[in-house]
Amino acid sequence: MTLEARKIRLLMTLRRAGVTDARVLGAIERIPRELFVPDAFQDQAWEDTALPIDLGQTISQPVIVALMTQALELDERMAVLEVGTGSGYQAAVLSRLCRRLYTVERLKPLLAEAERRFQALRLHNITARHGDGMRGWPEQAPFERILVTAAGGDEPPKDLTEQLRVGGLMVIPLGGDYRNQRVVRIRRTASGFDREELWPVRFVPLLPGTSSDGSANQPGSPDPARPDGGTAAS
Ligand code: SAH
Repeated sequence: MTLEARKIRLLMTLRRAGVTDARVLGAIERIPRELFVPDAFQDQAWEDTALPIDLGQTISQPVIVALMTQALELDERMAVLEVGTGSGYQAAVLSRLCRRLYTVERLKPLLAEAERRFQALRLHNITARHGDGMRGWPEQAPFERILVTAAGGDEPPKDLTEQLRVGGLMVIPLGGDYRNQRVVRIRRTASGFDREELWPVRFVPLLPGTSSDGSANQPGSPDPARPDGGTAAS
């Protein structure tokens, strides 16, 4: 099957899953996912599946990338923060739909790779940095939108909710136990926060602190049913 045919098939899958926003579908169509996927998985780059990247992390499943992007209700005037750059794929998609995209990754080698991709694709409205995204990006706050692509505990990190502009939206997978994760959309109102549960998912965990070489990035004992990072859960 040609790359073009694979793309069309994926876009049809996304539509069936409820991705109806033409701008989101257009961004997915235009960002070459094959450039974000390791060589060994090139044949699956346009399949609707999460794939492993370096250091035990994952590039999320396209349907989750698309649904989370759609849930953000972006417009081209917005400043958006993403936590968990990973491969950079979700950041690239977001960058086509907003004014400026800030993205933070705690594993330095992944960040470096993602930045190379942003440059190769001339995605000049992305600013990426190595850091603990649970702290947000205070120098650039407040943000109209925040997307977290790793699973938090039961509550969103306080620094992130504080950096959300009033009227703004945050989309974040929550649930300490990954068997019970849900993507949640939080709207900041003048008086507090409204919360809406969207869909069950499995994401790799949001971890505090940073690592410059990727070591010690998976604390705790290995779990045979490890979450695969940005996958729809049934
Ligand atoms: N958005 C990515 C998928 C991310 S997988 C993509 O499109 O490819 C989740 C990522 O979140 C991993 O790379 C992980 O290292 C990162 N992460 C986890 N906790 C973090 C934190 N506190 N700050 C920044 N990044 C974090």
